Amino acid sequence: MSQSEYVPTELTTLRRRAQRARYDRATVHAILDEAVYCHVSCNTPERTFCTPMVHARRGEELLLHGASSNRTLRALRDGATACVNVTLLDALVLGRSAFGTSVNYRSVTVFGRAEEIGDRDAKLDALHAIIEALIPGRWPHVRVPSEREMAMTMVLRLPLVEVSAKVRSEPPADLAEDRGFDSWAGLIPVRSVYGVPMAAPGVSDERSAPTYARAYRRPVAAGEGR
Ligand SMILES: Cc1cc2nc3c(=O)[nH]c(=O)nc-3n(C[C@H](O)[C@H](O)[C@H](O)COP(=O)(O)OP(=O)(O)OC[C@H]3O[C@@H](n4cnc5c(N)ncnc54)[C@H](O)[C@@H]3O)c2cc1C
Repeated sequence: MSQSEYVPTELTTLRRRAQRARYDRATVHAILDEAVYCHVSCNTPERTFCTPMVHARRGEELLLHGASSNRTLRALRDGATACVNVTLLDALVLGRSAFGTSVNYRSVTVFGRAEEIGDRDAKLDALHAIIEALIPGRWPHVRVPSEREMAMTMVLRLPLVEVSAKVRSEPPADLAEDRGFDSWAGLIPVRSVYGVPMAAPGVSDERSAPTYARAYRRPVAAGEGR
C-alpha cells in the first residue's frame, strides 16, 4: 500500500461490494472537497448524536467548527470517538427489478478522535480555511472575527487516518433473466445547482455580486480554495 492510499483497518475494510472500495487519497480528497457538509456522529454515555456540519479538508485533516456550547463538538473535544460521513448523490439507478433499484454515489467515512484547536492564531487560520473551502475568495471580504466571536466558536481538527471511500458509478446491475422484463431501465443523473446570487436586504441595487459568488460552483477548480 503506497503513501497515496489510506491503509484499510478492521473498521474501514469494505466487506459488502468490496469492489466499490476506494482508499486512494485523490478519490477521498475529491469527495471531501466537493461536499459542503458532512454528518458527524459520536457516542456519549447518555446517547448517540448525529449532526450535520460544514467541514473543510486541510491536507490530511478535517476541520469542524461551531458554537463553543455545541453538544457534538464538546463531546468530541472531551474524547468521544467521531464517525463522520460525507455523501454525494450522483444518480438514481432504475433497475428492471425492485431489488435492482439503487443509487450511484461517492461516499467517505472517517473514524477518529478530534482535538480542539485552542491557540488563537491557529484557530483563526482554521476559520480562514473553513470559509475559503466553502466560498473560495471570500475571506478577504468578510470582517475578521472579534475576540468575543473567537471565544464563542470552537474549532476541531480530525486527522484523516482511518478512512474509506465507497463509489458506485454503474448502470443498473440487472440479473440476466430480468433483462427481458418489459420495463425501462437506466439512470436519472442528480446534480447540485448553485443559483444566481440574491442580494441581502440593504445591499444597493447598484452593487453587483462579486465574481466568486456569480461563478460559484462545486467542485472548486484546481488552484481555487485549498
Ligand atoms: C447543512 C448543515 C450544515 C451545518 N453546519 C454547521 C456547522 O458547521 N457548525 C455547527 O455548529 N452547526 C452546523 N449546523 C447546525 C447543526 O446541525 C446543529 O443544529 C447545531 O450544531 C446545534 O447542534 P447541538 O447538538 O448543539 O444542538 P441542540 O440544539 O442542543 O440540539 C437539540 C436537538 O435539536 C434537534 N436538532 C439540532 N440540530 C438539528 C438539525 N440540524 N436538524 C434537525 N434537528 C436538529 C435534535 O433533536 C437535537 O437533539 C449545520 C446544519 C446543516 C443542516
